[in-house]
Amino acid sequence: MDLLNQIRSAGIVGCGGAGFPTHVKLNCKAEYLLVNGAECEPLLRTDHWLMRHRAAQIVRAVGQVGEHIGASRLLIVLKETYEEEIAALRAAIQAQGSPVELFLTRNFYPAGDEQIMVCEATGRTVPPLGIPLEVGVVVSNVGTMDRIADAVEGKPFTHKEVTVTGAVERPVIVRAPLGTPLSACIEAAGGKQGGEPLRLLVGGPLMGTVYPLEKADELYVTKTTGGVILIREDSGLVHLRERSAKAILRQAKTACIQCSYCTQLCPRYLIGHPLHPHKIMRKVAYAEDPAQLLQDPEIQHAQMCCECGVCETYACPMGLAPRQVNHLLKQALAKEGIRSPKPEGPFSPREDREWRRASSRRIAARLGVGECYDIRIDELAELHPVRVTLALRQSIGAPAVPVVHAGESVSCGQVVAEAPEKGLGVRLHASVSGVISRVGEAEIVIEREAE
Ligand code: SF4
Ligand code: SF4
Repeated sequence: MDLLNQIRSAGIVGCGGAGFPTHVKLNCKAEYLLVNGAECEPLLRTDHWLMRHRAAQIVRAVGQVGEHIGASRLLIVLKETYEEEIAALRAAIQAQGSPVELFLTRNFYPAGDEQIMVCEATGRTVPPLGIPLEVGVVVSNVGTMDRIADAVEGKPFTHKEVTVTGAVERPVIVRAPLGTPLSACIEAAGGKQGGEPLRLLVGGPLMGTVYPLEKADELYVTKTTGGVILIREDSGLVHLRERSAKAILRQAKTACIQCSYCTQLCPRYLIGHPLHPHKIMRKVAYAEDPAQLLQDPEIQHAQMCCECGVCETYACPMGLAPRQVNHLLKQALAKEGIRSPKPEGPFSPREDREWRRASSRRIAARLGVGECYDIRIDELAELHPVRVTLALRQSIGAPAVPVVHAGESVSCGQVVAEAPEKGLGVRLHASVSGVISRVGEAEIVIEREAE
């Protein structure tokens, strides 16, 4: 079986968060392969752990993928502050005589955003609303490479390493079967710290989603779960996320002083995209109803926003939320089926970009999670839940189609749902051995067999 078919067969999706099917992404030729080890979100530690403990298999997979896409430069991109990870990868590269190189960036946010990474490592700007392949680059991540190394050995994607941190007793990396309840991940970290009311953050502090803590029993580890973080209810992060759309728009109208800091520090603006959040804020402020603005080309540029949150967590002196305004506009544009036309190039990074990078540490402090910023996690906890709930949709595209029935016995690694015949999607494997207790419209439940 060739590499692409091994990846397809193992059901791999990008582990960086978006969940794009990897066999589709790698079905191309490119000059550069960039592998993200810069762990964009400030509190996540999974990629650190993988680079320290699985450097050899990551380097091997980068070499294999690079050869498959015909890349002449194979770069693992990580921050210059990651001393142990750099040492582990360098040792693996040397031991294997590998053509893989390390590219070290400064410690800023969002160093792990794929378009920012392309700009840092190659000096090229991905066109607005475009993809890295348009400038000869494929971007993947170290977690995905780790899964590819497994796939080459015939092991499907059944488990995920997840950072569990924040207000837990003992921050830990868990290795969890897909479908493990998030409450089991929190238990593995010694449970929640007592005292203050907490919320559950799934993902990182900037791009993740906040839930009531009680939801931890109903949410499950998927192929794209990166972090399970407990945060204080009175943190800046919760305050930011829980503003209503009405309050966000009202504040934009009443308090924006048009200082333009949100634009001057916007990472997408700085790589040369025509995204000007302060102009969007101005138009929204003067409009009776923002829905009437959707034909305005400048408003449509909201679709270039990657929702990194630099504008609202770092730049804005008035505590406003340009990211959330863009998010609301993107939703409204999508509902109306409006796509901004791709602007004409060429595009290049702005000259002052070098001096306008946002500090990850300062962002974490502003979000009220600064005390977790320096947590180093070395412990790995293997989880063995009695029941797993496998979501049929674990990637961009259509959900997988079940091929098992309730009452059937399955073994770990057996295919339980196939990729859809048409369109994007990936297959799904049993993550534990046991008996199928339910095949629903959106999930398959397996009760683990007693050992
Ligand atoms: S969230 Fe703000 S800073 Fe980030 S890309 Fe969007 S407008 Fe720019
Ligand atoms: S930084 Fe804040 S106050 Fe300044 S223009 Fe942007 S939204 Fe308005």
